[in-house]
Amino acid sequence: MPTQTKTKEGMSFSLNEEQELLKQTIRDFVEKEVKPHAASWDEKEEAPLSTIKKLGELGILGMPIDPKYGGSGLDMLSIALVMEELARGDGSLALTVAAHNGLACGHISNFGSEGQKQKYLPELATGKKLGGWGLTEPGSGSDAASMKTRAIKDGDHWVLNGTKMFITNGSIGETFVILAVTEPEKRQKGISAFIIEKEDKGFKAGKKLLKMGMRSSDTSELILEDVRIPDSRRIGEINKGFINTLMILDKGRISIGALAIGLAQASFEESMKYVNQRETFGKLLKEHDVIRFTLADMAVDIDAARLLIYRAATYACEGKSFTLEASMAKLFSSEMAMRVCNKGIQIHGGYGYIREFPVERYLRDAKLCDIGEGTSEIQRLVISRELFKKYGV
Ligand SMILES: Cc1cc2nc3c(=O)[nH]c(=O)nc-3n(C[C@H](O)[C@H](O)[C@H](O)COP(=O)(O)OP(=O)(O)OC[C@H]3O[C@@H](n4cnc5c(N)ncnc54)[C@H](O)[C@@H]3O)c2cc1C
Repeated sequence: MPTQTKTKEGMSFSLNEEQELLKQTIRDFVEKEVKPHAASWDEKEEAPLSTIKKLGELGILGMPIDPKYGGSGLDMLSIALVMEELARGDGSLALTVAAHNGLACGHISNFGSEGQKQKYLPELATGKKLGGWGLTEPGSGSDAASMKTRAIKDGDHWVLNGTKMFITNGSIGETFVILAVTEPEKRQKGISAFIIEKEDKGFKAGKKLLKMGMRSSDTSELILEDVRIPDSRRIGEINKGFINTLMILDKGRISIGALAIGLAQASFEESMKYVNQRETFGKLLKEHDVIRFTLADMAVDIDAARLLIYRAATYACEGKSFTLEASMAKLFSSEMAMRVCNKGIQIHGGYGYIREFPVERYLRDAKLCDIGEGTSEIQRLVISRELFKKYGV
């Protein structure tokens, strides 16, 4: 799978053949199977399970999973390309995939034992089961290390109690990675990760959360009441769960940034169509300089974000550190998507504000990118911390 982004002459700004083919394959799927239905999925506020199943057949639900466990083994740049294309059709569907792939599958793939990989990854890779990932709680999001969910050792078992909040795929998922405190006095160095299955006694999804955007992505609370699981369900070393989580989030941020670009691209494309149809003051909108300049600004903004995402993803492919680059890319892409999607509505005038046109949905969906997997404020904290490290200040 594609990892090559450099030539002898320097950096390449072109995708290779495999990447172009992957992008086109997802685009074709999205045009046929996603775009025509996205508005009605949004209205119903229900995840489109049959389309998610088709994504499984395409290998999209096992993107980061090694082929030996049934996955597609895609590198980070290819995953970013897929995320952008999916979001160009439907942000909610892309978010469903991001949580399943990057968070749940990513955590088990990167830090799970051989036994856990063999048991859980094949079903996740094909989409037979959907995954979710629970870090956030009702009382802790940005300050995730102050979580309250507790895992207490009892012989060769663990007993978990607590509530997780805002969990994507919460009520449709079957395999969850749950972060819980194992040594409270150690804060972030006292948190471990566990695999929880939907059928586990004492585990259930709480109320489904109704949202402003991303409405056909499933979001709910998860409730754990004396959930007793064997130690073989602990992922990685005891107390390393939070440190591992930070690595998962670095990649997750590239995915959310790419998702934001897909939404902005969709808004831009709708705007390009609209300016060729609507007339004001005796000429088409596209003939007004202000409109042309707005479109130019939108295109520049989208491409700048895309380059940041490609850089961060390429660093990840090359095995370089990419925390700073991923946060920069996520921050810029999310805020860019809000700017561009807002302009998309403005270009459509009143029609942009009604649900018959998709541009209002893109803006509602884009707002999540400013919040999920680390808010924009948290990205600025990460970026400034990394900069001080880099400059030795
Ligand atoms: C649709 C959706 C899907 C989600 N999916 C998942 C999921 O699958 N799994 C999961 O674990 N979580 C998930 N989340 C949770 C998400 O990651 C959190 O909402 C996010 O991290 C912010 O946490 P919070 O909501 O508790 O906000 P808070 O942490 O309470 O922050 C409130 C505000 O204060 C700001 N702030 C906080 N601390 C600081 C600081 N030190 N300096 C400056 N500003 C600060 C924040 O940026 C924000 O603007 C999801 C959220 C949503 C909305």
